[in-house]
Amino acid sequence: MASNFRDASVPVTVPTSATITPDTRDPAIIVLEDRFKNATDLEVWEHCIGGRRIENIPAIADDLANHTIVVCLDCEHWSNNTDETTEVGIATFSRQDILPVVANGDFGDHGEHLMQQVKFYLLRTIETSHLPNQNPESRGVDGNRFGQGRFVTFAEARQILTDLFVQPIDCIPGLTGNYPIVVLGHDVGHDKNNLKSKAIAFDMDPIGTVVRYIDTQMLARDKGYWMMPKNEQIGLKRLVEELGFEHSDSHTAANDAGRTLISAFQIVLGGHSCKKFAFKTMKQVADDLERHSITNSGEGLGGAEKYCWKCGTVGHMKADCRATGLYCNECAENGCEINPGNEHVTMHCLCIANKKALVRREKDAAARALKRPKVKIPTRGGFHSNWGRPQSRSSAVRPSGPLPRRGGFPQYYGPPGGYGFVLPSSGGNPSSTGFGGHGGRGGHGSFSFGRGRSETYPPGRGQRGYYQD
Ligand SMILES: [Zn+2]
Ligand SMILES: [Zn+2]
Ligand SMILES: [Zn+2]
Repeated sequence: MASNFRDASVPVTVPTSATITPDTRDPAIIVLEDRFKNATDLEVWEHCIGGRRIENIPAIADDLANHTIVVCLDCEHWSNNTDETTEVGIATFSRQDILPVVANGDFGDHGEHLMQQVKFYLLRTIETSHLPNQNPESRGVDGNRFGQGRFVTFAEARQILTDLFVQPIDCIPGLTGNYPIVVLGHDVGHDKNNLKSKAIAFDMDPIGTVVRYIDTQMLARDKGYWMMPKNEQIGLKRLVEELGFEHSDSHTAANDAGRTLISAFQIVLGGHSCKKFAFKTMKQVADDLERHSITNSGEGLGGAEKYCWKCGTVGHMKADCRATGLYCNECAENGCEINPGNEHVTMHCLCIANKKALVRREKDAAARALKRPKVKIPTRGGFHSNWGRPQSRSSAVRPSGPLPRRGGFPQYYGPPGGYGFVLPSSGGNPSSTGFGGHGGRGGHGSFSFGRGRSETYPPGRGQRGYYQD
């Protein structure tokens, strides 16, 4: 394609730079990316977690596809000024980590043993470590429940992320280059852009190892769990609740990444016997996984365990700071009255941060004033209310018919019926089937959420008990 443009003897429209830049990436990665592009998010995810492989992967990438690594990301920002990145949450595992559990066949309740293969990390950025949690309802980053927080500079965060996305393959016969990466997120484009455009300045695309971005919002759609007429997306909190666990201490990066990861597993495992016949509740499994993640975070990705955003040194936390004579240029210049305990170095000055936040708010207000207000249109739909109204690219409702028998190893994760397939209940109420043995009616192979969801609007408001254990 590119050479055709260059060799053309007649004038042609000048192509965009993207079309004339030769793709210098690993050919196997390019092939894998190409193959994954034509699969749904759910199919790619299933492949990543050791389930059914993506079919017809060309030979050049066939083995490489067995070594796909998933990186699940979430970024957090200071609520007073979202330009200020404060945390990055990471959950990561390789298909190879999971395959032994899959081979052994004991997934654990709700796939607990599968999810135990995931490692969780929380990066707290040093430059913004002093920016306080503004939400009195939230413990902020102190409420982290996944992995162990580590303090890193923006530059260190960039390096850690680079190392995550550039993992050279060694000691695998026949394979060279870097491991292919699948990026998972909830509204993943958002986190990707935040990492790129804000202070961490990490751009994953040019690295060339990412073969696919997948999104829990798309997984919920692909599975037929969440259908809305105008493609409205499900929020993470709602998704987590629908799946039967809790999004406690939300909006800290590792908690959000952790719950995104768990949700992705729960979506694909919907209808599987490890959920239907689980002894533990989903919430118990999620809670246990939090504890497991803290003791099994391994050697970590780097960074300091403790950092003081009062004196600006590594090795102790602010509460234990004994530094005296701390001096802030900004506060000295402004003649700020500094209460005992609030002394700080210039780098961690809240006055500077508040000033920047004010500038940002004024800019936003000016931008808003130029925009016309949007009229909000009430919408219908929600969990499992897509009957006869296929909306998304993969929501086509299949005709009902006999369920394919499961049981073969490669189909462990398969939703009987596939994407968007919804099993009608005997009573003919399209949305009255529950989730297997938990709150379902009879647990006869139903694998969708919700009961009567579409009968009430707004959906789910004030309703509880999808898992009535
Ligand atoms: Zn200190
Ligand atoms: Zn000040
Ligand atoms: Zn200051």
